[in-house]
Amino acid sequence: MSQQYKKSGYISIVGKTNVGKSTLLNEILGQKISITSRKPQTTRHRLLGIKTVKESQMIFIDTPGFHKDHKRALNKYMNKVASSAMKGVDVLVYVIESLAWTEEDKELMDQIPDGNKTSILVINKIDKINQKEDLLPFIETISKLNKFADIIPLSALKKQNLTALVDSILLKLPEGDHAYPTDQVADVSERFIASEIIREKCITRVGDELPYRISVSIDKFKEEDKITHIDATLFVEKKSQKGMLIGSSGTKLKSIGTAARLELEEFLATKVMLNLWVKVKQGWTDDEAMLTTMGYDLGKSS
Ligand code: GDP
Ligand code: MG
Repeated sequence: MSQQYKKSGYISIVGKTNVGKSTLLNEILGQKISITSRKPQTTRHRLLGIKTVKESQMIFIDTPGFHKDHKRALNKYMNKVASSAMKGVDVLVYVIESLAWTEEDKELMDQIPDGNKTSILVINKIDKINQKEDLLPFIETISKLNKFADIIPLSALKKQNLTALVDSILLKLPEGDHAYPTDQVADVSERFIASEIIREKCITRVGDELPYRISVSIDKFKEEDKITHIDATLFVEKKSQKGMLIGSSGTKLKSIGTAARLELEEFLATKVMLNLWVKVKQGWTDDEAMLTTMGYDLGKSS
């Protein structure tokens, strides 16, 4: 039977850092809006992703993670999760990593109210398990806790069993008018997503010291004749960090630029001409470096 009434609701995705929340969100939306990385704490912003399926609109909230070595940060995060992410949302998706269940996961789960009909447990990364039966006793133990309406093992990365999660969410959405137009996927602009894509490439290609000290500003974002022209400045705090970003003879920056451009082209579905500048935040005027990667020069030609 087809649905007669419109449904709309907020879904919050919570869980420890690195369990795959951003990957899951991106896969559900079919588009990358939240940056992912092997390094923890890359999600700085709380993002909304929107997916409308027939009469139902799902509005996703991707909550920032916490650093697992920080007890205080953990407590703070849990309080925040308990006070905001879990309250005032219609569906809660709690993500854990299969076979990597820890004390922290348990503490976090304690915040979830018992007997909740709108909480879903996602056991992610099942592609990492050789013997799928190994999961069954675990699922049984968790289901006895009476915390979750559904327990869904899946692989966000390998796109396994994602529809089970979407179906489960859809069933739990309340009736209500849609808050966003049907074709909208995020409440953040393409410009912001572009800056996150570029920032991600910097993080994944440069050493550990850099990630938390870099910010990206988009200075130009303009589509002309099926080419999106993007100028971005990477701001770092120290000259040494600038050196790390640029690499010897600019090789590092070039690989950042190329990787970012390729992903931007996929995201925007246009060719992209990307100009990257690196600047040290203080007194940078005589201290810049520039790189241009021209999307339309590559790929199709030759
Ligand atoms: P978040 O911190 O919870 O948002 O986690 P991310 O989405 O950034 O993912 C952390 C890491 O786990 C990334 O390297 C992902 O590629 C990886 N990952 C996410 N989902 C899966 C999965 O289903 N299987 C495997 N093997 N890796 C995954
Ligand atoms: Mg994330």
